[in-house]
Amino acid sequence: MKNLIRDLWVDEKARRAGFADGASLAEAYALKPYRLDQLYRAATKELIENVASISVLPADLRARLSERGVALDSVEPVVILRSNDGQTTKGLFRLHDGNEVESVLMEHWGGRTTVCISSQAGCAFACAFCATGQAGFTRNLTADEIFDQARYFARDLATRGKKITNIVFMGMGEPFHNYAAVMNAVRLLNDPHGFGLGHRHITISTVGLVPQIERFSDEGIQVNLAISLHAPTDEQRGAIMPVNKRWPVAELMAACAAYVTKTHRKIFFEYVMLRGVNDDDESARALGKLMRGHLYHVNLIPYNSTPDAAVQGSDDQRIRAFQKVLDEMGVPTTVRTPMGRDIAAACGQLQAETQPRVKKAPAEVALAPS
Ligand code: SAH
Repeated sequence: MKNLIRDLWVDEKARRAGFADGASLAEAYALKPYRLDQLYRAATKELIENVASISVLPADLRARLSERGVALDSVEPVVILRSNDGQTTKGLFRLHDGNEVESVLMEHWGGRTTVCISSQAGCAFACAFCATGQAGFTRNLTADEIFDQARYFARDLATRGKKITNIVFMGMGEPFHNYAAVMNAVRLLNDPHGFGLGHRHITISTVGLVPQIERFSDEGIQVNLAISLHAPTDEQRGAIMPVNKRWPVAELMAACAAYVTKTHRKIFFEYVMLRGVNDDDESARALGKLMRGHLYHVNLIPYNSTPDAAVQGSDDQRIRAFQKVLDEMGVPTTVRTPMGRDIAAACGQLQAETQPRVKKAPAEVALAPS
């Protein structure tokens, strides 16, 4: 198992340096498997900055690999912003082809740290309230491009004697629209010989792609599942989430129930609170009916306003009232604490502010099972 994950990592680094795969890289430099182990471990466990600094490798080998463009990182920080309270750090990262993605580090009180990472450049699902969705889809990230966002913040935290305790796939893109690469990134994050983050500390958030929820049910891993529900009826959800036309609420909820039956794992439902759209008591009751009696938890999310969106967030009072209705129905809820609002830390916001906006239509491909 160890070598499979290492080889996957080496393959991606080799390809980016222009080799056909890891085997041809190893051949070009007569690298024995233990050398590949050293490279992999240096990047994923020891969090060494670059090939030139891997002291277990002979100096001439380091020089030749670096010259040839073999690099430990596939994402380059372009803008790093820290919130005034120091708890939130946002990174805008450039990929080798010039595309940019965002990730966010949150350092909570009590030592917990969460990194929110992106799985795609852009997103094809065009949710009305989401800055990433407004800009359209560009491309899937590779597993190492996803993983290297975590590596960046793990290195940043290490300078303060801290570690990443949680990873959430809640950055740009739809993780289940890039299923294979996301699962490989999960393997890289989890590998006990490398990065070593436990499955239970990882959460994948999806817009609600039913075939992939079914596939994920069969993975047999303890990674958490979060569903972006955001509205309890087809009418309301369809108005803000085009994906609802393909997989309406009833189908989505059936897939969720089947997931819990199969895995015995709780599902987290995200519900972004939008003024006059989904935040009235009747919506709360309808949501409560969908949730009641299941192993479900509702996360009410205060909306972070984005430049082009036509919607506004609910005020705190409305959020509390909405939560009370769910409480009374016996549905477990939490209200997410907004972080990093002073640095535009919500999904896609930083990129929206630094790049010219071109609005694209949602890609048809997004709605086909992959
Ligand atoms: N495609 C995945 C991951 C998206 S981002 C998904 O849809 O779940 C993670 C969460 O942030 C989603 O629930 C998304 O709907 C929500 N979100 C997007 N923009 C937001 C904003 N401006 N304010 C608050 N939450 C937002």
